[in-house]
Amino acid sequence: MNEILTAKTVAFQPGERNVFFHLLTACNLSCRHCYINPAQHGSTTLSMATAVSWLRLFARPDKQTKLILLGGEPTLHPDLAAIIRTAKSMRYAVTVDSNGFLFHNLLDRVTPEELDYLSFSLDGPEAAVNDPIRGQGVFTVCTDNIRRAVAAGFSVSLIYTVSSLNIDHLHRMPALLEDLGVRRFFIQVIGLRGASAVSTVKTEVDWQVDPERWLAVVPRVAAEAARLGIHAVYPKVYLESDEPFLCAGLVAENYFVFPNGRVYRCPLCEDYPIHSFHIQENRLVHRDGLNEDRFFPLVIPEGCVMNRLLQPENIRYHADGSPVHRISCCLLKQEVLPTGV
Ligand code: SF4
Ligand code: SF4
Repeated sequence: MNEILTAKTVAFQPGERNVFFHLLTACNLSCRHCYINPAQHGSTTLSMATAVSWLRLFARPDKQTKLILLGGEPTLHPDLAAIIRTAKSMRYAVTVDSNGFLFHNLLDRVTPEELDYLSFSLDGPEAAVNDPIRGQGVFTVCTDNIRRAVAAGFSVSLIYTVSSLNIDHLHRMPALLEDLGVRRFFIQVIGLRGASAVSTVKTEVDWQVDPERWLAVVPRVAAEAARLGIHAVYPKVYLESDEPFLCAGLVAENYFVFPNGRVYRCPLCEDYPIHSFHIQENRLVHRDGLNEDRFFPLVIPEGCVMNRLLQPENIRYHADGSPVHRISCCLLKQEVLPTGV
């Protein structure tokens, strides 16, 4: 179909820098697939002073860096508005990823000019789908606050984490986004990290979506969103045989910063103490030893080496032992630009 052919891979840009900064790990919700792992990420809430000095470590006055402020729930941080303003003064483009509760009156304490994107997480087109995953009453609070943010002039995006529990409802999201006035749609794939890893091990829920289902559903829904004027982005996941494999750990600058001072380059590694850097006394220190960055240069037929090591059950093989699909870097995205505007 033509609309699916308009999806294009967003190549890693030379010099691109993204800082994913977890200001705290506390959260008011207990999503069933939560990827926060307090045993690995700590339970600290960074003070304003520490957050600002850590922001300085990653800022580059000569070029813009994207900063994504996360938690836990980042709006629980009492100084979030001041941190956003300080980050803007350091030339960061700032996004806040919220579960939709918007504590401390965030919409009244920053302006749409000070915040580049306000991103909401929602995992279903109605309460009956979303709330069993994210919590009772969450759908109503989140969609009410999306409407308030859009009405106040903020640039709003929405993140939908696809799993076996909600993939059958993804096709209903573009109409909801149009109704809410949201113009950017990020479709995520469930990762086996944090709570979803634990529940899968206990065989409580198998969250994973098989490749055929993903490929049949996700590009089609992204195309439908684009037809409604919504910019849709989703992870590449499966590489075509003629597409090159690239590890973002080698070709891009991504930092995943946690309040206990761990700094990862690869999000798949966040459940393990194999971070590349550690912040010590407000200095970014590279860690020697067998850590994540030693694995990035390894070339294997399955593509991403960390996926092969940490999520081998995601890979299927032909009878001759070759993988059915190569798995792309989890940070490689496809995008479908709006066609309906
Ligand atoms: S996934 Fe996000 S919103 Fe849900 S419990 Fe975890 S930190 Fe909170
Ligand atoms: S997900 Fe795989 S390819 Fe991407 S940074 Fe991590 S190890 Fe590299």
